[in-house]
Parts: sequence; structure tokens; C-alpha cells
Amino acid sequence: MISKILIANRGEIALRVIRACREMGIQSVAVHSTADEDAMHVHLADESVCIGPPSAAQSYLSIPAIIAACEITGADAVHPGYGFLSENAKFADILNAHNICFIGPKADHIRLMGDKIAAKAKAIELGIPVVPGSDGEVKTSDDALELSRDMGFPVLVKAASGGGGRGMKIAHSEGELAEAFTTARSEAKAAFGDDAVYIEKYLEKPRHIEIQVACDSHGNAVHLGERDCSLQRRHQKVLEEAPSMVLDSAARAAIGKIVTDAMEGMQYLGVGTVEFLYEDGEFYFIEMNTRLQVEHPVTEMITGIDLVREQIRIANGERLSFSQDDLTLSGHAIECRINAENPRSFMPSPGVIQTYHPPGGLGVRMDSAVYAGYAIPPFYDSLIGKLIVHGTDRKDCLMRLYRALYECAIDGVETTLPLFDDLLQSEDFQKADYDIHWLENFLERDGRA
Ligand code: ADP
Repeated sequence: MISKILIANRGEIALRVIRACREMGIQSVAVHSTADEDAMHVHLADESVCIGPPSAAQSYLSIPAIIAACEITGADAVHPGYGFLSENAKFADILNAHNICFIGPKADHIRLMGDKIAAKAKAIELGIPVVPGSDGEVKTSDDALELSRDMGFPVLVKAASGGGGRGMKIAHSEGELAEAFTTARSEAKAAFGDDAVYIEKYLEKPRHIEIQVACDSHGNAVHLGERDCSLQRRHQKVLEEAPSMVLDSAARAAIGKIVTDAMEGMQYLGVGTVEFLYEDGEFYFIEMNTRLQVEHPVTEMITGIDLVREQIRIANGERLSFSQDDLTLSGHAIECRINAENPRSFMPSPGVIQTYHPPGGLGVRMDSAVYAGYAIPPFYDSLIGKLIVHGTDRKDCLMRLYRALYECAIDGVETTLPLFDDLLQSEDFQKADYDIHWLENFLERDGRA
């Protein structure tokens, strides 16, 4: 049984895992760079180890430093959080070779889903509907053109190793294709060290709807409903909600069954998210994330299930604490990602937080690792907190969000909080009438970046 978990991460997600550990009576170990000596995860964990200088490559991404920290502290398991090494199959392999439990899926599944071309082929094999597109990698600009003509424009050139919305280029017409192809390839090479690209039909008004799954080693594969993550800027999620207002329970059950059957088919282990675009009543697979997602709290709020606890149970070889039939979705939840950024230009705004007053009260959860006096280091991402609200229905949830935003005070750095006040004023948002392009149009209309 796991008795001490080292958390190979920082920020709010490190706190999230420490909280689960403490509630389960498991010891926690924080690791940190020299820039994070005063970070909250370091204060709250039972032990902490400095693993290197500020640069992530030399600290949070340094596998030798993390293995050494496990050995020094006697940690018998590692939780990777999201980002950093969470989808690094080699890391999972190395931990296993050191008899340290990786709290996550099997390394082979991480590897498979990390290659989006292979992931799509696997999805087809497992009976999951996918976005129409190329049959695997597209190697030349001529091939890309021929295929796109057959498929019809617009098309999207996507990097096989892509992530975080990078390495993706749209071509609206033949004239734009050669450039989209070359730029996507060179961006992919620079960002991921792999220039393999593939082509998909560019869907013009889909929603991004993803299905949360959890699978144990006793053959139980369940889904925990969906999250609607259509509100995006530059292909990055800004606000997520569950359930999606465009699915009824029959549609939810149908896609849930397709996904859980597929997870059983591949003997998936752990939690994961199968991401789809949803247009005109049809689901189209885009990718699978083999880790806990930033937006997992909205699912926790409507199901009452602690996903990190389930991850630890699965890693321990235990059964999930619930079955598909036990699950009921209750009410509505919304998460706002609060970044230390200018709310108009979205430029990062590192600095010292002077005031920090998180909102509270019934149905309000603030997942954050900041405090008054905390200096946000410029070396990592700009997420400083997630405000999650739950209500009996969407209307109730919106009023709760309005109230929580009113209470929330963060001063000293600029944050994206005002954006959510503006969203609440929007009639389309109030009616949940949006697709993946809606937010960018909204920002543009308002003269923002
Ligand atoms: P990443 O791994 O970089 O996040 P994804 O494949 O998950 O890339 O796509 C991220 C976002 O990009 C989607 O949520 C959606 O907004 C947009 N996108 C991806 N594929 C398509 C497509 N075929 N048509 C339209 N938009 C797409």
C-alpha cells in the first residue's frame, strides 16, 4: 500500500494532491525549485525537497532530481499532477524500474495517446467516432493539398505531438494550405521536437465536450459525465462547465457507453479524459488526455467524487469506490481559470500579491496556492487559481458565480477576474449559446486581444 506520495508538481494542483493525501492518512512530499521556496505546497506538505534552479527543465522536469528526491524521502509513489511530467511515458517507465508507483495510467497508454495520429487510429479501432481527416501522417505539401481538395476546405493542420493548442494551423482555402502546412510543421518541430503533422476537417461551429473516465484494475470502467470546455482563447480553455447544456441524459449515456466500452477494450487503468468536438448532434474524437485535468473540479462538484482519491485507490490496486449505477449528476458547476494576466491584452503579470481574499460560502470552492505577500515567479504558467461554483441548476450556479466574483479580491497583480464579470453580462453566455469560437469573437468585439 502507498504510504508516502511525492508530488512532482507545484501550484494549486500540488495543493490539491496534498489535500487528498492528508484526508487519506498518506504522507506527502513536496518538491520545489529555488524560485518556489516560499510556495504554499512546500508549507503544506509533510516534507519538502529542493530539486533545482528555477528553470522547469532543471527542476520540475528533471527526472533524475525527482527520483533522487523519492530516494531521500522514501516516497513509494509519485503523483505527477497535470503538465510537467504527467504525460511522459519514459518517466512512468523509470519510476516503475525504481519500484516507485506512478499514480497514472500504464506507460504504454501514455505513449499511445501522446501521439495524436496513433491515438486517432486507436480510437477508430475501438469504435470511437473521429473528426474526418487524413489517414495518419501527411508528409508533403502536395499530399496535403490533394487530401484537402477531396475533404473540402477549411482544414486544420495539426501536430502529432501537439498540446496546449500549439502546432495547429487553419487553411481556409487552397492558397493558404502550403503556408499552414509549413508553419505547423516548423512550430511542431520547435515546440515538440517532432514535425509529424496530420490533417483534419476544420469544424466551424463545434462545442468542445469531453468525457471523464475512471478505470480500476478489477475491470471496472466508468464515466463521470461530460464537461463543456468550449469557452477557449487560442485553443486554451478559459471557463468550463458541467453538465453541458446541449446534452440530454440519453445522449450522455450513449457517448458514455462508447467511451467506457473503448476503455475496457484497451484495458485502460486510471483516470483519463476523452476529448470530442460536438457539432449537429455528432461527437468527433480529437484526443485523449491520460492524466487529471485542470478542470476536474467541475466533475467533482456534480458527482461528489474525489478524483484524486480515486486515482490513489486505483494505483493501490483497490476498486473504484463507486460503480456506474451509483453515480448521479447533481446540479451544475462552473470553473473559472484565474490567470495573473492583463484581462484585455492577456500579457502575463507576475509580481507580488498584496491582497488575497478568496470567496467562500455554500457551493464555492477556490483551488489556489497563493497568499497575500506571495511573489508570483515569472518562470511558470500564469494560472493562480480556479474558482469553482456549484448550484442546483445552471441559473442558480450563475448567480452564485456572480456573488463569488463580487467577493473575490486579488490585488497587486493583474488578473483575468474581470473577464468573468463581463461574461456573466453576456446574453449568449447566460443562455449557454456558444461554440469554440464564440469567446474569441466576444473578445474581438470588445476590442481585446
Ligand atoms: P491540444 O492537444 O493542443 O489541446 P486538441 O486536439 O485537444 O489540441 O484541440 C484543442 C482545441 O483546438 C479544441 O478544443 C478545439 O477548440 C480546437 N480544434 C481541434 N481540432 C479541431 C478541428 N478539427 N476543428 C475545429 N477546431 C479544432
